[in-house]
Amino acid sequence: MPFSSLGLSPRLVTALSALDFQKPYPIQEKVIPEVLMGKDVLGIAQTGSGKTASYVLPVLSLLEKKETKRNRAIEALVVVPTRELAQQVQEVISHFASFLEPRLKSMAVYGGVSINPQMKALMGVRVLVATPGRLLELVEANALTLSEVQILVLDEADKMLNLGFKEEMDKIIALLPSKRQNLLFSATLAEDVQSITSLILKDPIFVKVEAEKENLDLISQTGYFVSEERKGPLLRYLIKHNDMQQVLVFTSSVYQTENVAEKLRKNGIQANCIHSKKSQEARTKALKSFKEGHMRVLVATDLIARGIDIQFLPFVINYELPRSPKDYIHRIGRTGRAENPGEAISLITPDEQQHFRVIQKKMKKWVTMVDSESIDLRGF
Ligand code: AMP
Repeated sequence: MPFSSLGLSPRLVTALSALDFQKPYPIQEKVIPEVLMGKDVLGIAQTGSGKTASYVLPVLSLLEKKETKRNRAIEALVVVPTRELAQQVQEVISHFASFLEPRLKSMAVYGGVSINPQMKALMGVRVLVATPGRLLELVEANALTLSEVQILVLDEADKMLNLGFKEEMDKIIALLPSKRQNLLFSATLAEDVQSITSLILKDPIFVKVEAEKENLDLISQTGYFVSEERKGPLLRYLIKHNDMQQVLVFTSSVYQTENVAEKLRKNGIQANCIHSKKSQEARTKALKSFKEGHMRVLVATDLIARGIDIQFLPFVINYELPRSPKDYIHRIGRTGRAENPGEAISLITPDEQQHFRVIQKKMKKWVTMVDSESIDLRGF
């Protein structure tokens, strides 16, 4: 089924061809017509499934028909758990919105940066993407009003609950008009997610897409048994020996992130790191130069394991394992996306072996293991 038969605004169909989106992904085929009909939607889908466009396109299509007002009343509100996801969703919205006539104003707001420029820029914004804390701060400062929101989108609702945003979410919901359309997306339908879906959604259409499995099949996974002392040299060996030009390395702490990036640089490998203690500017800059291929290695904590879309990322390395198997899948899901094969490597110390077995069991896939003992790491 082509995009043109889903009922979207013709201008958006043009915007889709400008991006070379040739046909809708399954989630888009299912969600778009329902949103256009004004239905509530519960979407169980991962990043990589095309979920962003599945709500952005019909929301813009619905707003295009309505008159533009020049005030601080938001008409569509997208609440997301992280700043990076906020920026990414806003990028998608502003691409499509630029094709509308008149151009529809959208914006992303998030904490960690100064609030004043955001307050000024909110005038005339119709679609707002926001992290919960900053959104409430802006409401308190009277920089915007939520009393005219017609459509609410909660993206990565499971992550929002994991990060402890339940209270903020309740406050936000209380500020919205009771008559509105609600779209909720989550990677899982865990118990806590179910409890909020029944509070927020009215008679929702349920859509589930299995992106996770498809993605995993595209990823070649290898584990290297290694001692703690040889981890750093092995990482550098793997990057250099395989001539990896764009690799995302995961560690489990802010300290390790800095440490690993620093050692890579000392050994002549261009690297930067991204974690929650860095300023928003520094994070945005690091991510941008990595995405554009100017930075060879980006070392990260799990903060960016979700929601960040880097197309065609060929390599992910787990310098340390995440605690939860779910996070492991999200981490390696940064590669092997959109039908491009990718490679995920995990460095496993004796202490981590048992945990890695648990991860594989949960994932229902066994990873090829290599003993790194015989690799000559002198000079790395
Ligand atoms: P998302 O799950 O929203 O993060 O989207 C995953 C990736 O797929 C993004 O890079 C999108 O630009 C891309 N994408 C989404 N929908 C389509 C489509 N219909 N055709 C081609 N690429 C798409």
